[in-house]
Amino acid sequence: MNNYSLFSLVRNALSGHRRWKPAWASPDPRKTYDVVIIGAGGQGLATAYFLANRYGVSNVAVIEKGWLGGGGSGRNTQVTRSNYFWPESAAFFDHSLKLYEQLGRMLNFNIMLSQRGVLNLAHSHHMLEQLRRWTNAIQLNGVDSEMVTPEEIARLEPLLEVNGRYPVVGGFIQRRGGISRHDAVVWAFARAASAAGVDIIQQTEVTGFDIDAGRVRGVETSRGGITAGKVCICVAGHTSVMANLAGFEVPVTSMALQAMLTEPVKPCLRRQLASPELGVYLGQSDRGEIIIGGSADRYVSYAQRGGLPILHDNLAATAELVPSFRRLRLMRQWAGTVDISPDTTPIMGYTPVQGLYMSGGWGTGGYKAIPAGGDTMAYTIANDTPHPLIEKFGLERFEGGHLIDEGAASGVGH
Ligand SMILES: Cc1cc2nc3c(=O)[nH]c(=O)nc-3n(C[C@H](O)[C@H](O)[C@H](O)COP(=O)(O)OP(=O)(O)OC[C@H]3O[C@@H](n4cnc5c(N)ncnc54)[C@H](O)[C@@H]3O)c2cc1C
Repeated sequence: MNNYSLFSLVRNALSGHRRWKPAWASPDPRKTYDVVIIGAGGQGLATAYFLANRYGVSNVAVIEKGWLGGGGSGRNTQVTRSNYFWPESAAFFDHSLKLYEQLGRMLNFNIMLSQRGVLNLAHSHHMLEQLRRWTNAIQLNGVDSEMVTPEEIARLEPLLEVNGRYPVVGGFIQRRGGISRHDAVVWAFARAASAAGVDIIQQTEVTGFDIDAGRVRGVETSRGGITAGKVCICVAGHTSVMANLAGFEVPVTSMALQAMLTEPVKPCLRRQLASPELGVYLGQSDRGEIIIGGSADRYVSYAQRGGLPILHDNLAATAELVPSFRRLRLMRQWAGTVDISPDTTPIMGYTPVQGLYMSGGWGTGGYKAIPAGGDTMAYTIANDTPHPLIEKFGLERFEGGHLIDEGAASGVGH
C-alpha cells in the first residue's frame, strides 16, 4: 500500500508521479467468498474494511455495478454531525463522529475533516422552541450542542442577514460538526480494505440471489454466479430493488436529493448553516465554492438529476439568508437517489432471508454514518448478532411500531 508520508510525496513529485502504485487492486471475481457486499459506496467499503481489519474476516468481495463512490457517497454535501434527537440515534451518530475524528490517522489518508460547527437557525419563536427542545435532548444524550443568540450568530457569520425578510431569532450549534471530503473517505476505505485482502470488483452488477430453503447461498452477477456464506446489501437508493430480488419488501421511498455549488470565492462563510424553516443548508468548501442543499424532490424517482422547483427554492432561500451570494454564479448542480424510511432512521441488520443482511434507509444522512455503519455492520455480520448500537435499527421495528422518529433532524437533508 502506498504510504502518503511527506517523504513519499516529495519522492514521487520528483519522479513525475509515475511510480505511485494503484491505490487498490481490481481483481477478477473469484467463485466463492465468505462475505459478499453489494455496493461500493462508503457503507459497503467501510463494512469490508472493518470486517477484514477489526473482525478477522478478510475473504470478502465488494461488488459494484458502476465505479466505487459513484452513488450517494460521491454526490453528497459532506456534512458530518451527531446532533440527533433520540438516544439510539445520538449514540450511533456520535460513535461515527468520533471515528471520523480518528479516520485520517487510522487509514493514513487526509479526509480533510473540518470541524467548523453546524449552526441551525430559527426564524420564528415557534422554531426557536423546537430548537431548544432539540438542544436539550442532544445534551441529555451526552452530545455537544448549545443555543446561540441572534447577536452571537451575527458575530459568528458576518455575511448572514439576521434582520431581513426572515429574521434570525436564535439558533443552536454543534461545534464538533462540520464537513470532510467525501471522495477521500471513499478512497481511503477502498485503499485500506484492498490492502487487507478485500476484492473490490467494479463494473459488475448483482442481478439476483441464490436462495435455498430460506438461506442465501450467493449472488448472480453480470459476470456469473458467486457463492458466499453471507451477503450484505449496501446499495442506498436501490435497497428496495435488491430486497425485491431477494423476495421481501422494505418500507423505503426512493427520491432524488440534489445539491449545487457556486463558483469559488475567498473564505467568507465560517460555519455550516442550516435553516429548517427555509428548507436549505449551505457551507463553503475548502476550494471556496458555496455548497447548497435542501430537501429531497417530492416525487419518487431513480433519476439522478433533480427538478427545477427544489433548485429554485434552495437558491431563493440562500439569497435571503446571505444576500451577497446573489452575485455568485452557479457552477454545477447534481443529484443522487436516497432511500427514505418512514422514521428517517436507517434500516440495519437482518433480513427475512438467513445470511442476508442489509444496511440501507440512509435517506439524506448516510455519509456522516459511514465509519459507524461500517463498524457496526461488520460486527453484526461477523458475529451474526446485531451490534448493540444498531439493535433498534432492524427491519422488525416497522412490525412492532418501535419507530425512532428523526424526521426533525433530517427535515432538511444534510
Ligand atoms: C445530494 C446529496 C447530498 C447529501 N448530503 C449528505 C450530507 O451532507 N451528509 C450526510 O450524512 N449524507 C448526505 N447524503 C446522503 C449520503 O450520501 C448517503 O446516505 C450515503 O452516501 C449512502 O452511502 P451508501 O454507501 O449506503 O450508498 P452509495 O454511496 O449510494 O453506494 C451504493 C452503491 O451501490 C451500487 N449498486 C446499486 N445497485 C447495485 C447492484 N445491483 N449491483 C452492484 N452495485 C449496485 C451503486 O452503484 C452505488 O455505488 C446526501 C446525498 C445526496 C444525494
